[in-house]
Parts: sequence; structure tokens; C-alpha cells
Amino acid sequence: GVAGMAVTDSEALAALHRVFGYETFRGEQEAVVDHVIAGGDAVVLMPTGGGKSLCYQIPSLVRPGTGVVVSPLIALMQDQVDALRALGVRAGFINSTLDFDERRTVEAEFLAGELDLLYLAPERLRLDSSLDLLSRGKISVFAIDEAHCVSQWGHDFRPDYLTLSVLGERWPDVPRIALTATATDATHREITERLGMPDARHFVASFDRPNIQYRIVPKADPRKQLLSFLREEHAGDAGIVYCLSRNSVEKTAEFLSRNGIEAVPYHAGLDAGTRQAHQARFLREEGLVVVATIAFGMGIDKPDVRFVAHLDLPKSVEGYYQETGRAGRDGLPSTAWMAYGLNDVIQQRKLIQSGEGDEAFRRRANQHLDAMLALCETVRCRRGQLLAYFGQEPSGENCGNCDTCLAPPETWDGTVAAQKVLSTVVRLQRERGQKFGAVQIVDILLGRRTAKVIQFDHDQLSVFGIGEELSEAQWRGVVRQLLAQGLLAVEGDYGTLVLTEASGSVLRREREVPLRKEPEKPATSRSGGGA
Ligand code: ADP
Ligand code: ZN
Repeated sequence: GVAGMAVTDSEALAALHRVFGYETFRGEQEAVVDHVIAGGDAVVLMPTGGGKSLCYQIPSLVRPGTGVVVSPLIALMQDQVDALRALGVRAGFINSTLDFDERRTVEAEFLAGELDLLYLAPERLRLDSSLDLLSRGKISVFAIDEAHCVSQWGHDFRPDYLTLSVLGERWPDVPRIALTATATDATHREITERLGMPDARHFVASFDRPNIQYRIVPKADPRKQLLSFLREEHAGDAGIVYCLSRNSVEKTAEFLSRNGIEAVPYHAGLDAGTRQAHQARFLREEGLVVVATIAFGMGIDKPDVRFVAHLDLPKSVEGYYQETGRAGRDGLPSTAWMAYGLNDVIQQRKLIQSGEGDEAFRRRANQHLDAMLALCETVRCRRGQLLAYFGQEPSGENCGNCDTCLAPPETWDGTVAAQKVLSTVVRLQRERGQKFGAVQIVDILLGRRTAKVIQFDHDQLSVFGIGEELSEAQWRGVVRQLLAQGLLAVEGDYGTLVLTEASGSVLRREREVPLRKEPEKPATSRSGGGA
């Protein structure tokens, strides 16, 4: 009983019911599908899990010819095609994993008009033979998935994407649809320019996930903090805990299990059978916790994940958003909880420095980390900051559902404290060949005669003991915030602290350093990987 709809609507809706078994389109899907079926170009920005696939699959089914999907996710193509075939869709793919005969079969199917959808790896379109093949068949629509890969400043740049403008040049009459979940303004502009889609209509879904409560707490004893969070707020709930290393995944899963919370590990070091079994249990059972490296969650569609917890800092805001976005797909209240501390900052900077990639790559990685740190250190609404990062307007100053809105943090004038830290770093930097990290600096400020302080005569420095007004945890908080603000940097593999260009202005008293006030924390063991 849907009156007054365009002709294409009914066909699109029929395909949605018949092939996919869904009742209605979601959000922007219907508008996108209509526009593309009518022959228009589209740029679609939708968060992960928003339902991008149907935006090109339905037009491919409704329009005559084959929908050609360009996707960099070669490892997922087989699964995607299998899933479509199981629904009765005539789908195929061509990438480097096919042998000669397999490729010839798919090509023949395409030329005979027997495919609804053809998935292609982007590097294929560099080959004249591939372009020839495409021009000998009939194409209904071009879909460019993960379109942000065309952006040189993004975290996923693929040079092959730069050649995709050829599609518009050679097939001006075939509608194109570019899709991505990465929506910064710059990326958005690059997609339209580089893919040559100036007339495309833009469909931008909101990135806000109002049912997710965002919280970032200072890291003291992360496993214990996690345990109290789960006991107090999510007893018996299903959720995902993300850790950076396999080792800490194992230890955390064990720790939770020992403390009465059913938890299983998931990381690339486990054999495929175990991984599959743990994933299956997570999907099937109620209230299981999966402790995982970021490898877990891609393509997993479990609606009632009640919390996502991070024990280590994600590398980028995109990553954080994607991972936390796995919570609360059913729209019910859920929590994105993270413990974050000084060691996270040092560790991530070290990883970037000692990792692969050229100078430009490192600069980009540092920019991504900077944005993530800004989110952690903000005294304003986290949701607002998150949406602003993706180029979207928050609906108000305060969302009322993140930690900074619920309990606004105070700031304090940390100028003098910053000067004390930086002066200590200056003095240690003068000791050529010696490398000192945050622990030594805090020990010196607190006037502690540790073995290492005595060994290097650091109790003779003029800065020794000048910081007794703050606790160890507070000093670590100061160092962390200076690192996040770019007033300190990490060098080398040992986490040596060094000055930055901006440090001078603080030492010369040319600028103030406002810092976030943090709750007093329980004392932590200094070797225990705490804050
Ligand atoms: P994305 O590619 O944007 O991450 P998907 O296209 O994989 O998202 O869709 C995410 C999930 O939502 C899938 O399980 C899909 O089947 C489901 N879905 C998408 N559109 C609808 C709809 N209109 N009705 C019901 N479920 C949908
Ligand atoms: Zn808020």
C-alpha cells in the first residue's frame, strides 16, 4: 500500500523484498538507489554498517547490464560473491587469486550478459585488456567502494584509485556511485575531484550514534578498571575489548575469566579453527566478551553488542570510530569506554618512528595520532569533537551522553608545571649519549634518590625535587598532555623525551599551558604498564 511512488521505487523495493528479504530501505538508501537507477552519479558517505552495499546492489539488479564494483578488499571478494550467490544473485569477481581458466569463465559470463554484479580489484583497470573486456559487455553502473582510497592524505591511499577517472571518460553514460565511511571534508573534496564526478549528488548520512555513550578515563590499572566498569555497568552483557598486542589480549581474557566474566581471546596468532569457534560463540551466545586485536569485528554484524572497551589507544579517530561503532547497532544504550595514559602516547609515537614507511607516511601517521590525542584530551563534548572530525555539525554544544558532558572536567594553569618538566628535559638532553624517559624525569622532579638517579648524579641537578607539589600520577598526566599538545616529543626506541620547536615558547614564558584536571588516581606500580 505505498501510493504515489516513482516507477523505479516499486522495482527497487521489489528487489529489496525478493532478493534480500528486507522490508524497507534504511536512511538514505532509498534516495541513493532512486538517483542511481535514474542514471545519476552519487557520492555516498555512510558510517560502517550503515548499509552501503545495497546502494549499488539494487541499481545493479534493476538496471539492464552488469554492475561493476571496484573494491580494494580482495580478501573479502570471495565471501561477498558467495553470499550474493546464496541469495540467487548472479555475481562474480576478477582479481589476482583467480587462475587463468577461472578468469576466462567469469569473463565469458560477463560478455554473455549473465552477471548482475562483477567485483574487480582496482589494479585491473590499469590494464588495457580489462578496459577492452568492459567495453565489450554491457555495464549498468560503476560502484567505487572505499572511495577514500583515492585520497593521498587518508590512511588508506591506493595509487591505483587515481586511474579510476578513466571510467567517467570512457563510459560517460554509465552512472557512477562512490562510497566511503571516511567523511572528512578534505577526503570528500578529493573524491569528487580525482574521480572526476563534479555533477554527482552527495548523500551524507549522519555519523552520530546517539545511543553510544563515549567515555575516556585516565589509565591507572587498566585491567582492574575494566573489571569494575564491566561489573558495575555491563554485567552479563556481550561486548568487545580491544588491546594492541596478542600478549595483552591473552592476559586480559584470562584475567576476566578468572574474575567471573566469560571472555575469550581473538587475534591473528590463534589458529583459524579457534578463531572461528570464538567468533561463532560471540555471535550465538548472550553475554560473551571477546578480547581482541583490531582484527576482530570486520564484517561482523551482531546487533546487541552493549560495550566496546579499549585498553590501548587506537591509531586514528577513524579506527576509534569504526571500532566503537560495533556497539549498539540495535539502537539501545551502549558504552564506548577507553582507558588512556602516558604510555599509550609514548608507545604509539615509538611505533610510528620505528615502523616501516617513508617520511611522508610517518608524518601522516603522526597527524592521525594527533587527532586521536586531541579527542582524548578535549575538555569539550567528545561527540561534538568526533562529529567535527568527520566534517559534521553536532546538534548542540553538549550531547549529554559523553563523559565530558556528564561531568565537565576542570582545567588548571599548568604553565609552571610545564616549565619544570621542560627544564628537566633540557638538562637531561645535555648529557650526550644518555637517554632518559618519563620515569626518570618524574623521579627527578619528585626528588627521589633511585638507583638510576644516583648513578647519573641527577640529585645534583638544580631541578631535583622542585616538583613536590604534585603526585607521581599528576606529573605523568602533565607529561602526557605536553606530548599530546606537541610541547614534548618522543625520540628513538627507548621513549626518550625531547623538546619540540614549540617547547621554547613555554620555556621563554611566552605562552600559557592550560591542562586538564584529572581525578586523583590510586597509586600504581611503576613497572606495571599503568598510566
Ligand atoms: P556497510 O557496507 O555500510 O558497512 P553493509 O552494506 O555491509 O554496510 O550493511 C550492514 C548490515 O546492514 C548488513 O548486515 C546488511 O544486510 C544490513 N542492512 C543494510 N540495509 C538494510 C535494510 N534496508 N534493512 C535491513 N538490513 C539492512
Ligand atoms: Zn557530549
